[in-house]
Amino acid sequence: MAIATINPANGEVVKTFDAMSEGQIDRALARAVDGFAALRVTSYRQRAEWITAAASILDDERDDIAAMMTTEMGKTLAAAKAEVAKCAVACRFYAQHAEEFLAAEPADAAAVKASRAYTIYQPIGPVLAVMPWNFPLWQAMRFAAPALMAGNVGLLKHASNVPQTALFMADLFARAGFPDGAFQTLLIGANQVERVLSDRRVRAATLTGSEAAGRAVASVAGRELKKTVLELGGSDPFVVMPSADIDRAAEVATTARCQNNGQSCIAAKRFIVHTDVYDEFTEAFVARMAALRVGDPMDADTDVGPLALEQGRDDIDTQVRDAVEHGARVLCGGAPADRPGWWYPPTVVADLTPEMKMWSEEVFGPAAGLFRVGSYEEAVALANDSEFGLGSNAWTGDPAEQERFVTDLDAGMVFVNGMTTSYPELPFGGVKNSGYGRELSGHGIREFCNAKTVWVG
Ligand code: NDP
Repeated sequence: MAIATINPANGEVVKTFDAMSEGQIDRALARAVDGFAALRVTSYRQRAEWITAAASILDDERDDIAAMMTTEMGKTLAAAKAEVAKCAVACRFYAQHAEEFLAAEPADAAAVKASRAYTIYQPIGPVLAVMPWNFPLWQAMRFAAPALMAGNVGLLKHASNVPQTALFMADLFARAGFPDGAFQTLLIGANQVERVLSDRRVRAATLTGSEAAGRAVASVAGRELKKTVLELGGSDPFVVMPSADIDRAAEVATTARCQNNGQSCIAAKRFIVHTDVYDEFTEAFVARMAALRVGDPMDADTDVGPLALEQGRDDIDTQVRDAVEHGARVLCGGAPADRPGWWYPPTVVADLTPEMKMWSEEVFGPAAGLFRVGSYEEAVALANDSEFGLGSNAWTGDPAEQERFVTDLDAGMVFVNGMTTSYPELPFGGVKNSGYGRELSGHGIREFCNAKTVWVG
């Protein structure tokens, strides 16, 4: 994929960039080593000052950053502004909590025949972050803020369609005061990732993106014995039981499916509804989906903008067509808009069966699959019948049933009577083909630290 900003609202090429040469990559890696030597000896207090300065820049320049993201990948301007604000919150969260998350943990010294025994958390060095375009600032920030606060240095290989946001990230941390080399953007293609990851100066990698990209990066990392954190796709279930507040569930379902123009790993994708409330939920959900305003993402009245990539638009079109060819019913939407850019409307598809792509594949756009079930057991079995296991949603007013869902859903996250969302305070990640490791919270900052055992006789 060429490294370029192509406005998905009209398909126009805005700006193109050259991929870095071998010499440029080599110099960047040398800078990363020097950056680590400088950063690892700084205090939490110093790093907190810098990351707080980054948060202030994000606040001050929010509107311009948001417009850049909307131009690069088509999310609504309102959503882009919210994303910038969320990044500032994450910076301040880690400024405040990094030291306590990484505080030394005392052990029972007598039991191990020591005068003192404890664990310390130390940074490991340059970490490669391979990131996707869907939340171009947030996905990179939820790696960067904890990494920098821990004293690690970042090498960002961002998706090829968001180069301006990628360059902004490096500029942000430089302006905030971090040492040279602490955070660099590598403008490289996917085919140059192996070269970087296999370089001995790079100590670990984190990737957010597709299963295929995750497997490719994990294979190289496995060969090189380097740790990875993978946050891959999802096909989150959204289960609605008879005791749920149906109208509220339908309202949240609409947002959970269509936020970010339907391109979120934790979007609700499979709507599994108990037969007792199936008709009521379906009517309310379809009405809300059909009422969403599709249009210019820069316009404040727009709910849903274009898909980020032409390929993404084609993929969702193929999935819905395939379902229809195999007997599914389209309740709203169902065909791409005939206009320049990559447009696909909010869509609901019912009567899905296992041979259809929409049954098992991740749908990365605003098309929802509806499933009817007759019992709790059937709902859980269907929810778990997926290769993915990222987030999950259960809607029920019954406290005992809520507990059962929390226990039984095979996913990294379960949200009861609410939409799956990422918060700096909560760990984020999946099981099965959705990946491994956790981002955010104390779990996230410890992923790229050396938990060093200390024993003093
Ligand atoms: P990709 O997974 O292809 O891209 C994500 C990142 O990985 C990009 O930086 C990309 O670089 C890089 N990459 C891709 N292939 C490789 C590889 N073989 N080795 C090293 N790096 C690689 O996502 P797409 O943009 O193509 O989206 C396709 C699908 O990915 C979606 O339909 C969705 O299922 C999933 N996805 C999931 C996301 C999530 O949040 N979990 C986010 C985005 C996508 P480059 O851009 O240069 O190709």
